[in-house]
Amino acid sequence: MSRTVYVNGAFVPEAEATVSVFDRGFLMADGVYEVTTVMDGRLVDFPGHMARLERSLSELDMPSPATADELLALHRELLERNGLQQGRVYLQVTRGNPGDRDFAFPDPATVAPTLVLFTQETPAPEAIGAARSGLRVISVPDIRWHRRDIKTVQLLYPSMAKMMAKAAGADDAWLVEDGKVTEGTSNNAYIVKNGRIVTRELSHDILHGITRAALLRYAREAQMVVEERAFTIAEAQAADEAFITSASAFVMPVVSVDGAQIGAGTPGPVATRLREIYLEESRKAAL
Ligand code: PMP
Repeated sequence: MSRTVYVNGAFVPEAEATVSVFDRGFLMADGVYEVTTVMDGRLVDFPGHMARLERSLSELDMPSPATADELLALHRELLERNGLQQGRVYLQVTRGNPGDRDFAFPDPATVAPTLVLFTQETPAPEAIGAARSGLRVISVPDIRWHRRDIKTVQLLYPSMAKMMAKAAGADDAWLVEDGKVTEGTSNNAYIVKNGRIVTRELSHDILHGITRAALLRYAREAQMVVEERAFTIAEAQAADEAFITSASAFVMPVVSVDGAQIGAGTPGPVATRLREIYLEESRKAAL
């Protein structure tokens, strides 16, 4: 069945959902996005995603296409029109279509931002087998630009890194800069050693994961110790456990890094428990 997609003010069948070839998202990767998980027809961590969207827009001097309340109404209408119970809503805002190609930003008073939303259906979290087997990751150099805290659509290098992982027979890649892991291609990275959860501190070097914020809050509420600092690949290989977080993967165990088994080589108790807590709390708080 064809999806219904939202483009610039209209809900249309996906085959009719189009933007201009002059759109700056297409020509310049001049756009930002958010991905919000849907569980049981409801939106997980919606205020967090909208707050990060506003921040991404403001860091790039890009006009906001709608208020958070308007965006909530659009998300809900899109879910309803597509009958979506489990999956994601993808939202993208670009600097719009100035009618020609030019490096200079167009005047926001005359060129409106482009706003697109679409849904993607996924199996329920409990049906995702990777959570039981865990992921194998490889390390690759982090050669992305230096404002990774802005959630832009410049996803070429993360795509290349995922292809490098696939070519190496692995599931994903962790990015390394100055000898330390920054994050995963599309997720935040963690290790667990002697009961302490270690993950890189927030800065321009990583995306400020909405799942990361929720997870660290739940972990601290459960009296777990969290250390926000960078770690090396060698430390990860010697850790008791490792895992990643993202709105799409939730909490996902990592069982090997660059071919070296982590702990017992199976999902560890801390990652498994955090996944349960995260899913339970997210369902409770979803809008
Ligand atoms: N880092 C990067 C580079 C990402 O692309 C993502 C997923 N968008 C994350 C971290 C995780 O962020 P979130 O928990 O908000 O999905």
